[in-house]
Amino acid sequence: MANEFDPVTLRHTLHQTPELSNHEALTARTIAAQLRQFGFHPATDIGGHGILVTIQGTAPGPTTLLRADFDALPIEERGSQAYCSQHPGVMHACGHDGHTAALLAVAAELSHIPPARGTVLLAFQPAEETGEGAARMCESPEIANVQIDNVYAFHNLPGFNQHQIVVRPGTFACASTGVAIELYGKTSHAAYPERGISPASAMTGVMHTLTQLPDAYPDANRLVTLVHAQLGEPAYGVAPGQATVMATLRSDDNACFHAMKADLVDKANTLAARAGLTVNVSWHEPFIAAENSTHHTQHVVSAAQSLGLAVHRLTEPMRWSEDVAEFLARWPGALFGIGSGEHHPQLHNPDYDFPDAILPTAKAIFTALVAEHHGRGTD
Ligand SMILES: [Zn+2]
Repeated sequence: MANEFDPVTLRHTLHQTPELSNHEALTARTIAAQLRQFGFHPATDIGGHGILVTIQGTAPGPTTLLRADFDALPIEERGSQAYCSQHPGVMHACGHDGHTAALLAVAAELSHIPPARGTVLLAFQPAEETGEGAARMCESPEIANVQIDNVYAFHNLPGFNQHQIVVRPGTFACASTGVAIELYGKTSHAAYPERGISPASAMTGVMHTLTQLPDAYPDANRLVTLVHAQLGEPAYGVAPGQATVMATLRSDDNACFHAMKADLVDKANTLAARAGLTVNVSWHEPFIAAENSTHHTQHVVSAAQSLGLAVHRLTEPMRWSEDVAEFLARWPGALFGIGSGEHHPQLHNPDYDFPDAILPTAKAIFTALVAEHHGRGTD
């Protein structure tokens, strides 16, 4: 068929024109234009540049939401493909171009063969990398009041065999946040440090607190990584008056995650007060843990098995975060992985490129899940 949709071509188009989180206007226009070509009337500007397509079956039934993200990263691409990024310093290094191309392939199929019953929502989401887009879409009036029975999304996973379906009931990806602890005292002449208020010892106290923080929660997976520290200025004449410590906090358990955050604020306040400093604790790029229902994980497993795909069950959750967690906190569902290849370049690396070979796999598992929940209408 001359007009058949080719997700590979579309993926390469998106790959050439990557856009950072919250700046995905062109990408959103490309997606919406493609959806209109399929005969849909997509709702646009949902929680930023988000797009929502509603596909009704003829009979009443459940509602399923399939989600793909479409933002890129501030990384300079080092690839040799003809379709390399044309936007300097920006690239699709997480494969969101592929996630979106796969969901468009599902849209193409559903435009010919709609679900027999219920409603399928296709959600194209901006601003995943900064942890903002999913919550904004969920809170939009177009989605907030919808009763959704099933949520599904996938992430491609380098390091796993290509086409392998990676599942885990319970937490699939961890909660995480960046934190910056700023301490403010008073500078002075380095010859008279007693005339100022140096944050030096409180700063080392904060760093020690951060490294010890996980010890109080032995029952959960948790991790604190110090990422940056700065004290005063590189000037021998000046005793410091300001310090900043930056770190990331992670856990597979939302309760432990919130407790660690509260504990950190308490201890930073105590350390600052003891030294006569003021303190400011700020949180950056926060994600909650992505928690899968056992029931929906089983649906993914059966869909994979019906397609003859190998299933890999994770024993530990992924340490990284995925903001589809916001959908999964409101409605039950499952985030799963599709292997990109055991030796495929890793996510967020300059030589990474989404493997086109798994596009048909992603489309097939999504459409199998739709068929399980909604049946198939006629062409
Ligand atoms: Zn990603």
